[in-house]
Amino acid sequence: MADEDYVHATCHACEGAGCTYCDCRGWVEVRPPATLCPSCEGDCCIYCGYTGWAGLRPKYDEEDADVRRCDAPDRCD
Ligand SMILES: [Zn+2]
Ligand SMILES: [Zn+2]
Repeated sequence: MADEDYVHATCHACEGAGCTYCDCRGWVEVRPPATLCPSCEGDCCIYCGYTGWAGLRPKYDEEDADVRRCDAPDRCD
């Protein structure tokens, strides 16, 4: 499978601190050039997965796991 090029963009939900939206990394992978979400302009919304960015790298299908909800504590040590 072709591994497309993605760039790292600081997660706007946590400003790089790490949160559940960015898998505790503080950044997300987006298609270059990194473009702010046109719907929220970086304020985070459902369309950008609450990361503030457009062109997010699609996550692998993980239908087996329940959609992560916000009731999960943000523990990103
Ligand atoms: Zn984050
Ligand atoms: Zn958005």
